[in-house]
Amino acid sequence: MTQRVLLLPGDGIGPEVVAQAERVVLAVAQLFDLPLSLDTANLGGVAIEAEGVAFPQTTREKALAADAILLGAVGGPRWDGLPASERPERGLLAIRSALDLFANLRPAILFPQLASASSLKAELVAGLDILIVRELTGGIYFGEPRGIAVREDGQREGYNTYRYSEGEIMRIARLAFELAGKREGKLTSVDKANVLEVTQLWREVVTGLGADYPEVALDHMYVDNAAMQLVRAPKQFDVLVTGNIFGDILSDTAAMLTGSIGMLPSASLNEQSKGLYEPVHGSAPDIAGQDRANPLATILSVAMMLRYSLNAAAAARAIEEAVATVLDQGLRTADIVDKGQSAVGTVAMGDAVIAALMSQKENS
Ligand code: NAD
Repeated sequence: MTQRVLLLPGDGIGPEVVAQAERVVLAVAQLFDLPLSLDTANLGGVAIEAEGVAFPQTTREKALAADAILLGAVGGPRWDGLPASERPERGLLAIRSALDLFANLRPAILFPQLASASSLKAELVAGLDILIVRELTGGIYFGEPRGIAVREDGQREGYNTYRYSEGEIMRIARLAFELAGKREGKLTSVDKANVLEVTQLWREVVTGLGADYPEVALDHMYVDNAAMQLVRAPKQFDVLVTGNIFGDILSDTAAMLTGSIGMLPSASLNEQSKGLYEPVHGSAPDIAGQDRANPLATILSVAMMLRYSLNAAAAARAIEEAVATVLDQGLRTADIVDKGQSAVGTVAMGDAVIAALMSQKENS
């Protein structure tokens, strides 16, 4: 059955990196005989210009009908003056909530060829491959009551509520156990159970679920220790699962271990494994339209899309191998180039990945 992929190029460098990713989708579809159909829609600033809102109805309909969605990035200085509720980034929040994307998967993979780009010593991070699974639709970012109120003594007081139901914890933990089972079989659940009752419950529910996954080694870590361990000895981790706020912070910390934001893919999934796939970086207006953007984060997002939503793990591996090959060949965009070396552009990097894919097929 044909699977539907929706492309949302977005703003800034978004269209440039998605154009290269689209070529990669078409190439693997041909190489692996995958019945995929591609469509495109507007999201973000480009949608505001063309259709008046950041997440138009036509885009909503196409997104709901798609099996997987590939997004470039949204936003830029052109729309910075708009009120928060009308800005391009609202489109992103709206599509996440329309699809009920409760799980955010952020791999931090450091290709050994780029170990010198990390802020940590190369031996600590070379070959790093960890996956952070962050709950995305609950926790303190959404908990009610919330607000800023005037107290009896006249002082203003801000407050938020950190809540998780058993069901919310269960669904993110189950996904994390399953992912760990397909990797090294190690899951670290991150909480602050010594202080916060909500994460005491988190720990109890995750521990209980562990009985269903005897093949996965589960351990628990307080978030302060997890932050420390991520920069002390990150290779000890395989999969980390945590709530929304801790995941927000830890995934950005892990991202920096790899050195370049231009290399990091991400996925957000719902219960039907429908997913929104996107590079971690933004629309980079400072380099937009100059053929300088690194398309590899978006191309690696295509690999995640094939693996998690389109049931095509072999095609996903082929893309990851093709990326490793181009790095071995010494190709680097400006963001990952070593001093004194020359950089290739966005399109040339796309060309090289396609050529590496084609030669894998010829050699197989
Ligand atoms: P950014 O990620 O766009 O850029 C940060 C820096 O990294 C810039 O110097 C940029 O040139 C560089 N960079 C980013 N991606 C790169 C790539 N693929 N190749 C080479 N260099 C790359 O973050 P920012 O500057 O804080 O934000 C710019 C705009 O993007 C803002 O409007 C912001 O709201 C938006 N944004 C969107 C998303 C998203 O769509 N998911 C995420 C973050 C920021």
